[in-house]
Amino acid sequence: MNTSTDAPARTGMVLILSGPSGSGKSTIYKAAIGDLGGIEFSVSCTTRQPRPGEIDGRDYYFISHEKFNALVAEHAFAEHAEVHGNCYGTLKSELLDRVRRGIDVLLDIDVQGAAQLRALCADSSEFCEACEFIFIMPPSFEELERRLRARGTETEESILRRLANAKGEMEHANEYDHIIVNDDLDRAVREFTELILGLRNHPKRRRIV
Ligand code: ADP
Ligand code: 5GP
Repeated sequence: MNTSTDAPARTGMVLILSGPSGSGKSTIYKAAIGDLGGIEFSVSCTTRQPRPGEIDGRDYYFISHEKFNALVAEHAFAEHAEVHGNCYGTLKSELLDRVRRGIDVLLDIDVQGAAQLRALCADSSEFCEACEFIFIMPPSFEELERRLRARGTETEESILRRLANAKGEMEHANEYDHIIVNDDLDRAVREFTELILGLRNHPKRRRIV
């Protein structure tokens, strides 16, 4: 029996957030995460170059292709994929320890990575019960393009590649447990926040006794 007074009441969730580039994933979770508390962001490894303002170890671990391949060979990733021409991966070390300590972990990953984690659910009931798959949908393709351009972080080549991939990614939305349409930002943040609060109280969450 756990007698510690500050012990978590439940195990943490693995919140898997996907959606096309520019759909608003990072805007939504950055707005929600502070109020929610108890959530930590899973920092992914990537071979892409940092954007202005991005910090190594906070936004991503920016690593070389050689280092990425070495981590793949060591089986250090829970999932990894090539997305828009760069490699991305979630380190196993970002996940289970936190979940067991009652911390919710938020992953911003693409549909291929989410499919790999869904497959892992078949092998582990502990992991399966922790996972919630959430898709952020833009209100329209035109608005997605407008937001991606207005963000001003991508070259024209990168914008076109991200838009070309967006349609295929949106076709996977119905594989997710929850879909949030990011039309009005305040409304979408509220929906996301309420979803997380509701999921924390769901009876399927494992209690720590
Ligand atoms: P993602 O993380 O999915 O790639 P971002 O969070 O970077 O997308 O959002 C893309 C751009 O769209 C950003 O410039 C952001 O400020 C803007 N944005 C996000 N949500 C909305 C919204 N509901 N209405 C208008 N602009 C938005
Ligand atoms: P960006 O380059 O805009 O930061 O991210 C591009 C895409 O890569 C987004 O769809 C994002 O969700 C995805 N991504 C970021 N980290 C990971 C990861 O660790 N694994 C996978 N599979 N995709 C990731």
